[in-house]
Amino acid sequence: MTDAYTRAVNTGLTKTLARKLGLPRPALLRRYKPGAPLTTGPVLLISDPASAATADAVAKVLAGWDLAVHRGSSSSDRAPEGTIGRQTAEEPRWGAVILVLADAEGPGEVSAAVLAAGAAVKRLAPSGRVVTVSRAAEPGDPPAVAAVRQGVDGFVRSLAKELRAGATGNGIVLTGGATGDDTSTQAALRFFLSAKSAYVDGQLLSVGPTPFGLAAWTPAYWDKPLDGKVAVVTGAARGIGAAIARTLARDGATVVCVDVPAAGEGLARTANAVRGTALQLDVTAPDAGEKILAHATARHGRLDVVVHNAGITRDKLLANMDTARWDSVVAVNVEAQLRINAHLLEAAGRGELDGLRIVSLASTSGIAGNRGQTNYAFTKAGVIGHTAATAALLAEHGGTANAVAPGFIETDMTRHIPFATRQVARRLSSLLQGGEPVDVAEAIAFLASPLAAGVTGQTLRVCGQNMVGR
Ligand code: NAD
Repeated sequence: MTDAYTRAVNTGLTKTLARKLGLPRPALLRRYKPGAPLTTGPVLLISDPASAATADAVAKVLAGWDLAVHRGSSSSDRAPEGTIGRQTAEEPRWGAVILVLADAEGPGEVSAAVLAAGAAVKRLAPSGRVVTVSRAAEPGDPPAVAAVRQGVDGFVRSLAKELRAGATGNGIVLTGGATGDDTSTQAALRFFLSAKSAYVDGQLLSVGPTPFGLAAWTPAYWDKPLDGKVAVVTGAARGIGAAIARTLARDGATVVCVDVPAAGEGLARTANAVRGTALQLDVTAPDAGEKILAHATARHGRLDVVVHNAGITRDKLLANMDTARWDSVVAVNVEAQLRINAHLLEAAGRGELDGLRIVSLASTSGIAGNRGQTNYAFTKAGVIGHTAATAALLAEHGGTANAVAPGFIETDMTRHIPFATRQVARRLSSLLQGGEPVDVAEAIAFLASPLAAGVTGQTLRVCGQNMVGR
């Protein structure tokens, strides 16, 4: 639920009053609705001269999605030359500006392209998108190449802070020879352009090449990317976990919902809503991995996706921390994931779980730190660490492991934060509001999808570009 302040500054008299008083006015974010267009308007595609071939590949992908794509600068009000795809009315409000800076070899080469993007964002539609496509510097690259490639990082994070009206700025970083039209580049581009990334802002996602080609999917794929897959979601009785279960089911997955017996009622509610099955299980049980795998395969014949969402907080300053608070948070938030993953990796090693997707819930607290949360931040940073290590182990079985780090999300967990702190936490992001559970769920659904095979070992923040931390 959008918070009361955000609703007030977007409706009636209070909207006028807020504008007159110059109060911060968080926008109502565009969120995914089936059948709605991918972007709210035409797409402007800009590249530096060296990146023209990569931009051509991206343009072809966009045109294949039936988007109106314009090439070049938008400094005039007229639709520029070189329009491909569907024609649009004059004076477009850009639904998205895509800036391809993949192949520049020095910082001096990108000026014209980034300044054209600067002119274009003046005409960005509400909840519009800026997406950069750049390339990671490889070991041995000259310093000037490393400078321009890393430069994109600072550029995107800063531009995202300048955007208004619910618009976001994110970047795709091609690694390991991935191309502008690589399968996973397409999946990432579509996620960032769409309303599914409403609360992802100021983030750069590394995308590697995928082992299979475009023939592997059809346009219908984008509506049901998880068709025929079986997914397990822990902590599914409420909050973010329930939203993850609903979103994975919407995308076509059969969902096994896991939660502790004490949350049985909420668990049954979620499982019924998604037409999945419920598994009452404490994830800290020594045999949790065995139980999860046995349930998924016995009831549904397979296991494709595991989402480690169950998590707890037991906040205290370290000076006042007791063993129970520290150990319980460690047990649920990180040790349970490690134990379950070890079991899944064994099964993958026996050839039983090819292409497994593991997605774990981290937190911005594990990146930036948070007063009173040494235990929680220890575990959430631990999740980021084990995700990178697990990704390397799963790779040989065609699997991926990624983490999602939510910032301030409106759930029962955050409802217990004192009122004033809660208000400040909401406004401390570029989007000036907290996120919704579905925002986290959408990022997880993207990372769990077959086409995201080239995205692994990553931690994607879903935090509205929370000002705290990197
Ligand atoms: P929540 O407290 O509303 O829900 C957590 C669920 O996990 C509950 O249903 C609970 O019963 C279940 N659970 C707890 N311990 C369990 C166990 N041992 N075995 C099985 N299930 C167990 O929390 P939420 O806000 O929905 O958070 C979900 C995840 O997102 C957590 O990992 C949390 O750390 C993370 N997160 C949340 C936020 C936020 O702002 N809400 C921010 C960052 C990260």
